[in-house]
Amino acid sequence: MKLAQRVVRVKPSATLTINAKAKALKAKGIQVVNFGVGEPDFDTPQYIQDAGVKAILGGQTRYTAVGGTDELKDAICKSIQNDYGLSYSRENVLVSCGGKHALYNLFQALLDSGDEVIIPSPYWVSYPDMVALADAVPVHVPCRVENSFKMLPEQLEAAITPKTRMLIMNSPSNPTGVHYSRADLKALAEVLVRHEDIVIVSDDIYNRILFGGCEWVNLPMVEPKLKERTFILNGVSKTYCMTGWRIGYILGDADVIKAAVKIQGQSTSNPNSIAQYASAAALGGDQALVKELSDTFEKRCRYVVDRLTQMPGVSCPMPQGAFYVFPNVSAHYGKKAGDRKVTNSLEMADYLMEAAHVAVVPGSAFGEDRCIRLSYALSMDDLKEGFDRIARALSALV
Ligand code: PMP
Ligand code: GLU
Repeated sequence: MKLAQRVVRVKPSATLTINAKAKALKAKGIQVVNFGVGEPDFDTPQYIQDAGVKAILGGQTRYTAVGGTDELKDAICKSIQNDYGLSYSRENVLVSCGGKHALYNLFQALLDSGDEVIIPSPYWVSYPDMVALADAVPVHVPCRVENSFKMLPEQLEAAITPKTRMLIMNSPSNPTGVHYSRADLKALAEVLVRHEDIVIVSDDIYNRILFGGCEWVNLPMVEPKLKERTFILNGVSKTYCMTGWRIGYILGDADVIKAAVKIQGQSTSNPNSIAQYASAAALGGDQALVKELSDTFEKRCRYVVDRLTQMPGVSCPMPQGAFYVFPNVSAHYGKKAGDRKVTNSLEMADYLMEAAHVAVVPGSAFGEDRCIRLSYALSMDDLKEGFDRIARALSALV
């Protein structure tokens, strides 16, 4: 049957595809080490689970307001005030079925055919396709490993055209783990204040998973003039180990939020009522658990980078947050294991899956074919086993 052009334009999510492949092999009894999908390996903390159960038993099981309950919006505004020192009220908040859905709604509300959206590359897999789904045009800015994969102000300036409508920032970054410092952001903000029509999306979904005492900052925090045209994206998936609950949110200009609520009202309606209730408990509860989570990822990160950099032909910048590494493995491209040749990141990911039963995501899905992405949200035992397998598989390539 003929499909709409819209769907023909987009690719399936590479991260979710790899996860499905890894799960299918596991179902066949194969012990796959899954560095593929990015989600914390811990259960949702007990106090949040309890809130979910209480919501069900207490009858919080009906439709809510389309854009989220007042209780959750208040908890979101309070948590943003604490973390960012920025004030928002209920009319500035849209709660959706995950951060991904909040972004989708925002793009649908803001982007028109032909609008250009600047995306520093490497980027999270879904940005270009979500932009394409809104008929807009992704403009990739290739960021060099020598600059820690950060976009420089002159690169931003050069990418801006009369058609530029939006810039997407993601720090700490998926896939590189890179975090933009106050100075980095100030330099970018200097460019952005001169281009008043550009809307900024600050994807801060990993802002609480930051290492080495890094200071948490984003564009509107360093340049208050940018606040009114910035949309902040965050959610509970990563911070509170709630990926399956599907709650994410954006904060920004009230009129645009209203427009995005209209789109949500004609598609999914409100996000799950029980998950909203539990998310309010998550944001209002004991935040010491978040620090513990971040410390755990930091410890693992050191181990992961240590293991990777000991492998011949592998280099890897040190992440400052999130739970991903993005090693360059291209020194192995062109080599063979038996009659199997590996020439790019997709073939490398396939080779590791088949020869070592290790799931990784090809860097090409993030705009950098020299690299592969590994999520280290795995137990130390699995990490050790996974890196032993990768080391063996890479040394078999000659
Ligand atoms: N932004 C980035 C950079 C991500 O890695 C994710 C994880 N999928 C999201 C947004 C959205 O996460 P979720 O839909 O689970 O809230
Ligand atoms: N953000 C995660 C990842 O990049 C989850 C998968 C997804 O939503 O694409 O692996």
